[in-house]
Amino acid sequence: MKVMSIFGTRPEIIRLSRIFPLLDKNFKHIMVNTGQNYTKELSSVFFSDLELRKPDYNLKIRTGQYGTEIADIINKTEQVILKENPDLILILGDTNSGLSAIPASHHGIPIAHLEAGMRAYDNRMPEEKNRILIDHLSTVLLPYTNYSRENLIRENIHPSKIYVVGNPIVEVIEHFLPKIDKSKILEKMKLKQNDFFLVTAHRSENVDDPEQLKIIFSSLEKLHKKFKKRIIYPLHPRTLSKSKKIKIPKGIEIIKPLGFFDFTKLEKNALCLITDSGTVPEETLYFKKPCVTIRESTERPETIEAGSNILAGLDIENILGSVNQIISTKYDWKWDSSLGDGKTASKVLNILRGKLERRKI
Ligand code: UDP
Repeated sequence: MKVMSIFGTRPEIIRLSRIFPLLDKNFKHIMVNTGQNYTKELSSVFFSDLELRKPDYNLKIRTGQYGTEIADIINKTEQVILKENPDLILILGDTNSGLSAIPASHHGIPIAHLEAGMRAYDNRMPEEKNRILIDHLSTVLLPYTNYSRENLIRENIHPSKIYVVGNPIVEVIEHFLPKIDKSKILEKMKLKQNDFFLVTAHRSENVDDPEQLKIIFSSLEKLHKKFKKRIIYPLHPRTLSKSKKIKIPKGIEIIKPLGFFDFTKLEKNALCLITDSGTVPEETLYFKKPCVTIRESTERPETIEAGSNILAGLDIENILGSVNQIISTKYDWKWDSSLGDGKTASKVLNILRGKLERRKI
């Protein structure tokens, strides 16, 4: 039985990291890295940290211009799909690499989509369009939560194709917790517990427009002045390329993207996270830390419902007010096991095995 996983970015590598070894053990597993995230800090560092083997293919896709990137992903993944002729392809999430679903579906290869059904109902996001396309081309849909499952059913995807499997980030964190706890990043950066803000922001709808990016930096500047706390901002290459002409205000400490253990150690110890990431609000809920999401919409309402995350939009006063509000809350948030119980990898494996064995896909 041959299963091909196709991925290409930091969050896909992290989330799939506990699933890859099970695929290796149970199937003939072909790992295909498109190379969508190609810098060391966003890619190879995670292979060594998360104890992953080398992928079978590194497609080194051409990134940059939208059409060039998508065409290269479709072209190069089609070539490996035709060469390997897998029984099934596993895709996670909503990145351009996931558009390998287009050639897979064209050649009649069944697709299992993990992280299916997320919807922000916001078409400004390239990821929203990718999600819809990938979901509707997939054979088996594996959402994290019931909320995502309902989104799929509302789009007329038949419930018999859907299995809720929980969020795989739980088992990644739990497996690596000893290494996270051992990280020396606090000492290295001379940071004290609950005495700094941690920031990530790199979504294209936030940083591609210089005016939006200026709002982010101005908010952080005001935050520094108001709370007198250090602001640590590991800068994603996309934001770096867009911020070349912007003067970084005082108090904001720009650093390179961190490895998973150092970053999650900072998450566990920050006063509050300010982010436009999808995964960060989930991790902060898991660590019971306050989070302010600087986006207009989210495909993950579960963290807001749990109480640990405020969707502040991209408005300076509202970001400041939201931070003030969430850090003043007396909190006892909890990661409900319905969001992910640490057994996602084995559930995914069982579902693929069952489907493959009965050739029902
Ligand atoms: N992350 C990391 N180093 C960093 C910033 C983030 O390891 O400097 C991790 C973070 O813990 C999370 C993931 O990268 O697991 C989030 O990735 P990203 O925000 O790029 O993607 P999204 O979650 O929005 O899809």
